[in-house]
Amino acid sequence: MTFSAIERKVSTFSANRRPIPVLVYHQISEAPAKGSPFRSLYVAPKTFARQIAWLKLLGYQGLSMSELAPYLRGERSGKVVGITFDDGYQNNLTHALPVLIKHGFSSTCYAVSGLLGQTNVWDKPLGIAQTPLMTGEELRQWVSGGQEIGSHTHQHVNLPTSADRISHQEMMTGKTELESVVGQPVQHFCYPYGHYEPKHVTMAAELGFVTATTTQRSRCHAHTDLLQIPRVPVLRSTSLPVFWLKIATAYEDRRKK
Ligand SMILES: [Zn+2]
Repeated sequence: MTFSAIERKVSTFSANRRPIPVLVYHQISEAPAKGSPFRSLYVAPKTFARQIAWLKLLGYQGLSMSELAPYLRGERSGKVVGITFDDGYQNNLTHALPVLIKHGFSSTCYAVSGLLGQTNVWDKPLGIAQTPLMTGEELRQWVSGGQEIGSHTHQHVNLPTSADRISHQEMMTGKTELESVVGQPVQHFCYPYGHYEPKHVTMAAELGFVTATTTQRSRCHAHTDLLQIPRVPVLRSTSLPVFWLKIATAYEDRRKK
């Protein structure tokens, strides 16, 4: 085989790579009363259980960011889906963990290290209901259940409106504090509010994060930057047919925000 034939083979392989959806959930709980802001970020426990069972039935393997990374790099191929949870809500432990364990799936939950055992105080100005966040002990239970902890900064800061020194501090402290809580390296980051600039991508790389997720909507394709990973939101209103469209078709790929 000539070099160019090999090259062609490699590029065909890349082009044929199955797009990888990285799902993003927030709360796994019944939504608060009608009229409450951001009800879309609550997925009912029964709905979540149905979605995970459906993935399993169709032969998908749900993976944490650590386990997904080789697939994102193109080193492995398979029918895989990344599963992520933002903010570290206690209801992830109570409602999502048993379902994930039942189906043998792993996932990554991004915790806010300075607010363990407190609530989503950063949402208060928007009038969003306050919900308990996991304590350190609960994060360890999450990890014992085969799941992973990622970092979502120390105080859920908006990086672009923070001084660089503060952003760096927030990203570094979030990582080291969580590492001492769970007793494992924390190598995956999630930009709070999905807001970031190129300098924050550089900071994530310098701090040793292997992946960083955003709120840009798309599945991951061969060219995806591991420090700017787009995701697929799963919302309260996501019906099972739409859930399928988001995972198995280009539905989300065209919804870049
Ligand atoms: Zn968040």
